[in-house]
Amino acid sequence: MRDPRYDILFEPVRIGPVTAKNRFYQVPQCNGMGYRDPTAHATMRGIKAEGGWGVVCTEQAEIHHTSEITPFIEQRIWDDQDIPALRRTVDAIHAHGALAGIELAYNGMNGSNLYTREVPMGPSHLPVATFTHDPYQARAMDKRDIANLRRWHKAAALRAKRAGFDIVYVYAAHGLGTLHHFLSRRFNQRSDEYGGSLENRTRLIRELIEDTREVVGDQCGVVFRMSLDELMGPVGLHRDEAHDLIGLIGDLPDLWDVTLAGWENDSTTSRFEQEGYQEPFVTGIKKLTAKPVVGVGRFTSPDLMVRLVRQGVLDMIGAARPSIADPFLPRKVEEGRIEDIRECIGCNICVSGDFTMSPIRCTQNPTMGEEWRRGWHPEKIAPKGSDDKVLVIGAGPAGLEATLALGQRGYEVMLAEAGRELGGRVSLESRLPGLSAWNRVRDYRVFRLKQMANVQICLDSPLSADDVMGFGFEHVAVATGAHWRRDGVARWATLPVPVAAGAEVLTPDDLMQGGRPQGRQVLLYDDDHYYMGGVLAELLAKEGYEVTLATPAADVSNWTHATLEQARIQKRLLQLGVRLRPHRGLLGIDPEGAQLACVFTGDEERLPCTATVLVTAKLPHDALYHGLLAQQAHWAEAGLRSVTLIGDANAPAPIAAAVYAGHKYARGLDGPEDTGDSVPFLREVAQLVPWTAAPPA
Ligand code: ADP
Ligand code: SF4
Repeated sequence: MRDPRYDILFEPVRIGPVTAKNRFYQVPQCNGMGYRDPTAHATMRGIKAEGGWGVVCTEQAEIHHTSEITPFIEQRIWDDQDIPALRRTVDAIHAHGALAGIELAYNGMNGSNLYTREVPMGPSHLPVATFTHDPYQARAMDKRDIANLRRWHKAAALRAKRAGFDIVYVYAAHGLGTLHHFLSRRFNQRSDEYGGSLENRTRLIRELIEDTREVVGDQCGVVFRMSLDELMGPVGLHRDEAHDLIGLIGDLPDLWDVTLAGWENDSTTSRFEQEGYQEPFVTGIKKLTAKPVVGVGRFTSPDLMVRLVRQGVLDMIGAARPSIADPFLPRKVEEGRIEDIRECIGCNICVSGDFTMSPIRCTQNPTMGEEWRRGWHPEKIAPKGSDDKVLVIGAGPAGLEATLALGQRGYEVMLAEAGRELGGRVSLESRLPGLSAWNRVRDYRVFRLKQMANVQICLDSPLSADDVMGFGFEHVAVATGAHWRRDGVARWATLPVPVAAGAEVLTPDDLMQGGRPQGRQVLLYDDDHYYMGGVLAELLAKEGYEVTLATPAADVSNWTHATLEQARIQKRLLQLGVRLRPHRGLLGIDPEGAQLACVFTGDEERLPCTATVLVTAKLPHDALYHGLLAQQAHWAEAGLRSVTLIGDANAPAPIAAAVYAGHKYARGLDGPEDTGDSVPFLREVAQLVPWTAAPPA
């Protein structure tokens, strides 16, 4: 069973009046479900508790209707109506012996109150600090507002206690929420006893911790969450000041939950930070307080966790993303199954769920967010529904995941891959700058597949429709992927862009397979807007090419706002000397350069270059699939019953979508056919209140 060197991770930790059974702590984590999808949320948290986390928290819970962050979907604890949904989450967590925590948040100037239309409040008169630059200002809170906030926070804490939570947060982290704004001199420009000195800026925090303890302290641990650094030097909250603060109120909370601010510095992707990257900031905190400390850092290695505990850096191992990629991480450590841990790749597709207001998804864990609505458990899957044999063609993320889940169900599976390497696009992309952790998508699956007697893997096997018809498999999944277009078609130009004879045009596939421009002056045209354009510009700039990145968007890698990476990508490219031409569409390419147009005025400009890299749309490899469909009349005699197109071969999308498609295929095999005539998953529909008044005339 458990390796004794990990015993320390399973020691109980006292948090005020409650005790966590071990040191594994799922810190508050947004998920795009919140108040809209309460049962889906409760089930997801319950599965983490089942997976062994000693503490499982909600995401931030808005404590009051004067502070909500529409359009983002978080928890709400505005009044008693919200208690039953929260209690459902608590019950799901308690069912597996974990402590349930709730992160109470007064967002203040982080929300425009677009739903309630209340006037936002903050420490000072300042524009709201929302992700969407809404044209509203927060007004400075007066003493009555502060007294109100203290009363509202107390009421919310009491509701949390009544819902059954064991841990109640006072939240001042990430640059999100009023308490952070009161603390940080950037926002707090007050001259009363709540502004100025650190002691004054800490006053409201102290009061809310004391208030919370007064109303729930008999039953609940009171956790204070703060950021140790805003990473902007003395202008913002910084490490020295944060340490002084902990010196001031070190023993007031029952536990310190420490992070970096803003969210992009806390949930940093693997492209920019390694596992454990927050250690330098957290080191030394424990000397300032007698209370336990939890911190994060995309921890997936139990050895690192043990070191941090042994060296007195942390008492509890905080995790959001590692608990998403593998809700059963603690159990796997406990059961001596370290190599079974599905390690987070640090891509932040999970975060994009919050930014797109859609239920959380995960590249590594296709069941994340689907626990309730599709009944998918991350560790359990139904046994096979027949003795049919399955051929999976293509070993990219879709094919690998389909094969793995089919193998787990007990099917006889053959995975045929044209190339000499497994992993498809993941193997290629993980060789690009900063993306090496993405190979975990391949490695996790390949390791498992190699142990399955019912799975056969064939490399160097490019299959044709005739090959497949001759094999005798009952089911075929076609996961043959896609390639990048060479004609400029994407969002701005939906028809091919003229390319004159002799012009050198490359695609991401060319570069990933080792091709390079012949000349040094390269135009990289990005009408894809996710990571690929920025990554390839970085690659070429580091290799000494003179790179101009043109894009119809306002900034580079625009969609990476949803993965919290955009600012870092743009900074890196600027520092590498990449010239940026935003708001530019591509009109044509010739051997001496490219013709660009302003996307607003149409004004044209000439950009001299010796080669153009087109990061535009993709085309699916679906010829094999259509070849098989063309022979449908002969399927019965070949013993073939179904042919299904999955992943990028069906419609190109992020890797997470391919993994999901592979998993969905495997779960659905031998199940009822999804004809699209009914909704194939559960959903919660708003319950109507009794009609008490006539609608307005
Ligand atoms: P996805 O993201 O949908 O999994 P990828 O492009 O990552 O797609 O992977 C597709 C894989 O399919 C590649 O490894 C490719 O070599 C393989 N492939 C494509 N066509 C065939 C074929 N006809 N026979 C076998 N393998 C194929
Ligand atoms: Fe990790 Fe990516 Fe999954 Fe988020 S989506 S938990 S970053 S693998």
